[in-house]
Amino acid sequence: MRVYADNAATTAMSQVAINAMLPYFDKVYGNPSSLHSVGQEAKEALDAARATVAQCLGCEPREIIFTSGGSEADNQAIISAARFGAKKGKKHIISTAFEHHAVLHTLAKLEKEGFEVTYLDVHNNHNVSAQQVKDAIRPDTCLVTTMYANNEIGSVLPIAEIGAICKEAGVIFHTDAVQAVGHLHINVKEQNIDMLSLSAHKFHGPKGVGALYVRKGIPLVNIIEGGAQERGKRAGTENLPGICGMAAAMKDACDHIDENMPKVAAMRDRLIEGLSKIPHSAVNGDLVHRLPGNVSFCFEGIEGESLLLLLDANGVCASSGSACTSGSLDPSHVLLAIGRVHDVAHGSLRLSLCEYNTEEEVDHILKVVPEVVQYLRNMSPVWRDLQTGKRQYIL
Ligand SMILES: *Cc1c(COP(=O)(O)O)cnc(C)c1O
Repeated sequence: MRVYADNAATTAMSQVAINAMLPYFDKVYGNPSSLHSVGQEAKEALDAARATVAQCLGCEPREIIFTSGGSEADNQAIISAARFGAKKGKKHIISTAFEHHAVLHTLAKLEKEGFEVTYLDVHNNHNVSAQQVKDAIRPDTCLVTTMYANNEIGSVLPIAEIGAICKEAGVIFHTDAVQAVGHLHINVKEQNIDMLSLSAHKFHGPKGVGALYVRKGIPLVNIIEGGAQERGKRAGTENLPGICGMAAAMKDACDHIDENMPKVAAMRDRLIEGLSKIPHSAVNGDLVHRLPGNVSFCFEGIEGESLLLLLDANGVCASSGSACTSGSLDPSHVLLAIGRVHDVAHGSLRLSLCEYNTEEEVDHILKVVPEVVQYLRNMSPVWRDLQTGKRQYIL
């Protein structure tokens, strides 16, 4: 058995999305900007996809810009709002300490240019409150950017409340909703969201395509310069197969949220309950306001990387929070932000489920994870020191 439990990293494409893409490789292959009939067929498909994406979010089609994914949408949203604010002398931005790097690195760039960023603390319930946002708003605040749901620990933020506060204060509100779209009900108008980033490959669509919703009236800055595609706001010939695959995947996901959410959440809860029995462990993230598919733990006395390799060898594909891919040994900024100390943050495990997972797979994970954790602890000098009292348990 091989269980894929890394759906927060990417998902398998749905058959619906694959079928929706196929005609656009060879049958409807035109450039939507061409004036002839072949191009116009492509333009019709592009318009239809835009209408579908807009309908899923509760906005107007002209408020949707197609991008190469969540990262690009985050960059464009944040830079646009910052430039708009700076023109009015407003150079203060509010965000959170546990954003995705697409947001954090964009903010760091703006800080170097003289913007000031307040990063809200996420120690309390491993989440932020709307009151924290309210308290941080200043007369010179031009943007609040908070993720909709955290990709590592699953906390779902109080988006509608934050939206209402921003609306009242006249501050632009952007949310990185990459983990939420297709998994939670979203309506940008009802939730007073001004800008929203999404990515197709997190809801069974293709990789390398996403979208940015921008409320009309908010001027966008181009990240990619060139032709006049996307109302002149995002140059480059549209990725039509990707865009059509995304629209189909998004509609399919949004139409089935009420069915999928309880099913996935039940598997999540069984995993959290079962893995909590492992001694000296801790669940990460908000236990009440939580993504249906997120299970995040820290296990004391082990290394996340060895845990992942052994889990893979035992048929469980998971992820840890640490940034081992970058070659650095720094643990995840998210786990540090919620107050996990370095040693504990290193022993992290994220299992992220979707509706394709089964109860049998949950059984397999519940069997394998405790065994592998015990095996690694038995080999760990740190664990020996903890057991002999040379070192104090933290969890
Ligand atoms: C995956 C992810 C992104 C990046 O999206 P890409 O389409 O891979 O660029 C941004 N934010 C969050 C919260 C994510 O989970």
